[in-house]
Amino acid sequence: MKLLVLPGDGIGPDIAEATRLALAALDRKFSLGLEIEEVPIGLASLKTEGTTWPSLANDRLHTADGVVMAPVDTYEYPEGQVNPSSMVRRSLDLYANIRPARRRLPAQPGEKPIDLVLVRENTEGFYADRNMAMGSGEFRPTEDVALAVRKITRSASTRIARTAFEAARKRRSHVTAVHKANVLKLSDGLFLEAVRAVAKEYPDVELDEVIIDAMAALLVRDPGRFDVVVTTNMYGDILSDEAGEIAGGLGIAPALNAGADHAVAQAVHGSAPDIAGQGIANPSALMLSTAMLLTWLGDRHGKSAFTEAAQALDQAVDMALANPATRTRDLGGSAGTMAFAETVATAVSGG
Ligand code: NAD
Repeated sequence: MKLLVLPGDGIGPDIAEATRLALAALDRKFSLGLEIEEVPIGLASLKTEGTTWPSLANDRLHTADGVVMAPVDTYEYPEGQVNPSSMVRRSLDLYANIRPARRRLPAQPGEKPIDLVLVRENTEGFYADRNMAMGSGEFRPTEDVALAVRKITRSASTRIARTAFEAARKRRSHVTAVHKANVLKLSDGLFLEAVRAVAKEYPDVELDEVIIDAMAALLVRDPGRFDVVVTTNMYGDILSDEAGEIAGGLGIAPALNAGADHAVAQAVHGSAPDIAGQGIANPSALMLSTAMLLTWLGDRHGKSAFTEAAQALDQAVDMALANPATRTRDLGGSAGTMAFAETVATAVSGG
């Protein structure tokens, strides 16, 4: 099975290396037959090849069975450079961004239970770099006016709703659709129309609807009431950071970008430039995202070894997080990125 690793920017190379250590241990333990290739992208390839998205990455993207993608620091890219994250999602048609938020550390006093999956539409909405066939969805007609176009389609809303209802069937059979149709009556109205139509195909799954601003508050007040949350691109991006933080922090918030034929493991968090190059980033989120990818590969190819490897990785991360001595600094511990990875790899190997 061919895996492509894109190490990204900032803390990306550190957490990618940590994840590769865990993957190597899984490969040995479960005989996965992994062929891993790493291709530099982003600021690294900009320096050597003059582009944030080199042709080698593009070639390998289409031949890999799965991709592990570390975060990219698009904020630092010169105007006109490719956002690799958007490129990957677009060219593989990864329309679903699946972001679970579950508390993995023991709850501190005042912390509420949370175990939800946020299903975010990934291909349109307000994202100027992916919502147009040509040109950008954001433009500035005069020096003092800037406009952004938000695209909502029935087809994209329908397929993301279906992903959410399928996920709910495997969980607690409840979907919450988050919208702002009280103001964006046409665009969020269309999104809701599509979700309600899909809901009719799933009479066993309950649907409720919550306005985005109320959702931001309810997530803090009572996160335990949510099972699967489905929403458009930008609301989903923002809410998943909030849910990840409530569940214990961005450092442990995983995500999978999935389409009909491809999947890419990618943590919720960004490139964390404030701690880049210090060897202290928490690799859990990318490792847990990789566990989601292994599950996806196991389902797709009918290979139970991948499903077992995914469970082993998930449990090994939980084990490393359970011990305050092996936690990274963002969670109050003192372990460095690679020390944490060693703990996970040892646990995976049964040590
Ligand atoms: P960020 O998620 O990188 O960082 C927010 C805070 O969380 C920082 O204090 C950071 O140190 C901390 N943090 C994040 N991940 C951590 C980890 N694994 N371990 C320990 N601490 C961690 O958000 P930002 O600073 O707003 O964004 C930085 C860059 O990342 C920007 O260029 C942004 O566009 C980009 N970004 C990329 C992705 C992606 O590639 N998927 C996602 C979000 C943001």
